[in-house]
Amino acid sequence: MSRIELEPYKITAEQIYHEMTGNWALIDVKINPSTSYAMVMPHTKKLFLHPLILIKPEDLPKDLQVKGPEDPRLQSSEYFMRLKSFLARKFEIDPKKISNLKNIFDMHLRTWQRPHLIDRIKRFAIAHEMGHIFHQHLTRSWDRFFSFVFSILITVLLLELLPIYLAIVLSIGVSDVSRRAFKALREYSEQYQEKEADYIATKITKDFTAAKSFFKALDASYKFQWDSTSWMEKLSLILFHTESLFHISHPSPEARIQNLKTAHLIA
Ligand SMILES: [Zn+2]
Repeated sequence: MSRIELEPYKITAEQIYHEMTGNWALIDVKINPSTSYAMVMPHTKKLFLHPLILIKPEDLPKDLQVKGPEDPRLQSSEYFMRLKSFLARKFEIDPKKISNLKNIFDMHLRTWQRPHLIDRIKRFAIAHEMGHIFHQHLTRSWDRFFSFVFSILITVLLLELLPIYLAIVLSIGVSDVSRRAFKALREYSEQYQEKEADYIATKITKDFTAAKSFFKALDASYKFQWDSTSWMEKLSLILFHTESLFHISHPSPEARIQNLKTAHLIA
């Protein structure tokens, strides 16, 4: 994959960052199939893009071109095997790293349905990611660090107060509970970070239409995740599921549109 193809995204990202902060910074743009669209590492200023962002519908080989998200060919797993090997070859990535392609492709197809908005949607999504850098949002692992420090402190305290065997047993329990509690805290704080990033992205791009179109596509592809999960299920997912969950750390697309409306950012 040549650097040239990533260059326009790098320029867009750096310009938006400049508009937000008044400063220029180098944004390192990379292809990464483990995000569904785009994501960022705020402290290293790395922007990751899903390979599907880098292609236009007409770049797909003829036998992979479909009419839209309702196309019956999207029901076959063979279609996605071929799409995966096409992307792996084109972008020189390990096909094993391309996962969840069915849902992700569905979302991209929905953004492709309004061709005149594709570039504006990409710009909004990049602005959202630059918003995470602007606000210096913390990345995923901070909860593990704080929970580790907290557990050490509690263990030291317990060793002072209790017989050693009791202190050890209790501190194992404490470290487990604290790990889960800090993770829950992080998932919820991310919801707040998403709102902040949406807000500044819309303020800079002044493109509520693109924002709405992006969230509508996200909603159509992933709605079930937000709708089918009750509060009890969400709580148990936070406490017992070790992976980070997109629909817990991100507000629902509907809520994100609503947030921007209440922030009076309607173009
Ligand atoms: Zn975000």
